[in-house]
Amino acid sequence: MCGFVAIIGSPQAAAEVHMGLRALQHRGQDSAGIAEFDQRFRVHRGLGMVPTAIDAATLALFESSRAVIGHVRYPTRGSGHIEDAQPFLANPPGIILAHNGNLTNVEELAQKLADKSFRMLSYCDAEPLLGTLASKMLAARPFAHRTQDLITAVKELLGEVRGGYTAVCGMQLDGKPTLAVFRDPKGLRPCTIGRRGNAWMAASESVALDPLTFEEHFTPKPGELVILREGEEPQRFELHNLGHTPCIFEKIYFARPDANMAGRSVYEGRMAFGRTLADEFSEKGLEGDVVIPIPDTSRPAAQAFAEHLGIPYREGFIKNRYSGRTFIMPDAATRARALRLKLNPIRSVFKDKRVILFDDSIVRGATIARISEMVRDLDATEIHLAIHSPPVANPCFYGIDMSTVAELFAARFMHQGYPGKAGLRAAEKEMAKALKIDSLTYLSVEGLDQAWGGPRCAACFDGKYPAEIRAEDRLAIAADRRKAADRNTSETQF
Ligand code: SF4
Repeated sequence: MCGFVAIIGSPQAAAEVHMGLRALQHRGQDSAGIAEFDQRFRVHRGLGMVPTAIDAATLALFESSRAVIGHVRYPTRGSGHIEDAQPFLANPPGIILAHNGNLTNVEELAQKLADKSFRMLSYCDAEPLLGTLASKMLAARPFAHRTQDLITAVKELLGEVRGGYTAVCGMQLDGKPTLAVFRDPKGLRPCTIGRRGNAWMAASESVALDPLTFEEHFTPKPGELVILREGEEPQRFELHNLGHTPCIFEKIYFARPDANMAGRSVYEGRMAFGRTLADEFSEKGLEGDVVIPIPDTSRPAAQAFAEHLGIPYREGFIKNRYSGRTFIMPDAATRARALRLKLNPIRSVFKDKRVILFDDSIVRGATIARISEMVRDLDATEIHLAIHSPPVANPCFYGIDMSTVAELFAARFMHQGYPGKAGLRAAEKEMAKALKIDSLTYLSVEGLDQAWGGPRCAACFDGKYPAEIRAEDRLAIAADRRKAADRNTSETQF
């Protein structure tokens, strides 16, 4: 998962992109980058959070630019090393590119590019995406590129590049600085376009537009190419639309609650998930004395859940924002202490209560198992767990890092795929037993659709992948994730 911000037509483009990236910091903390593409082309990439990766002295180098792209990275492919940071530059033909998402046929693309003597210098899939675009632009015309060259190149690219991705590109087109945005044919990864006078902005989430007073103007369609220039109306080209299936997990977990996605409030969506889950919880005949969210993402849904059931909502955990990453711990006692460093409970909130713990999702299950163990020691009389998403039983291949199927908690209990609401209720009993808690209630896929509605990708829950993934692509991605895990074994999130 990553985030991008791009602005064209503002005299403070670099400073504003920097601010926009800070608004999107939740989408990636491993590295950040910035690039300009009007009078001159320049790229800077650094490790760490935005203020560290792009410090004041670096930012000053970009201050005269009116056309700037920025990126924050959370690696879903490759490593957290500097060579994998974005944006990337291909010169010739002179294109800067950053993207959010995951390509599923990287090896195939890299081989095609190698056949044309384009070599990859990183593991990041933005590089083959850019290489494919650059090679098609050069095939259309060796220099002085025109809008029609880009349309032809992106149209061909959308038919060849599989996966979920939204890309922003900076280039000179028709002799003018041009910001181009395109989305995969299923529109899996988010994007919004904003306007402020003569200036245009593209960003992964609307929360980057708000502090810069850009007004949301439109959401590009799946398979659409949008061309933005200072003082001109956007040019829009629908090139390869296979039907919109946006990622539902953005609304559950990744996006900020104050974001709008395709005109809908993520906060309101999370409240709806909470209310629908409350109905499913009470249908099972379950009760509790207090609802306690596991911070932070689950809060809006937990509040709606508690309100709907008329049960008190309490903050039972205090999150330590400064504890940083927790290194792999050698034994259970040390791991328990590490958890307490990150998430310390307020004992009185739990004591002698039938506690309903509330969270957004369970991926590997290790963290929730440790939290449940901690709550057992706080003299709670019962522990019920409510999760405002369906069970994650399938890996994501479109840009969210969920590991391999063997590591997913729910996959151990759902061998035949999503079993429907009734089957889920049966599986939950086994899962609760494994976690040593009194009950576990997930939001069903049916409930998810009732709460959010509309077309969506929910493949990590129901196993129905909307964009083609070939068997060899799955194997290559799983192998790549294992390699990335080996490279990063020195530390982990708790
Ligand atoms: S598989 Fe899950 S996380 Fe991945 S795009 Fe689909 S809904 Fe989002």
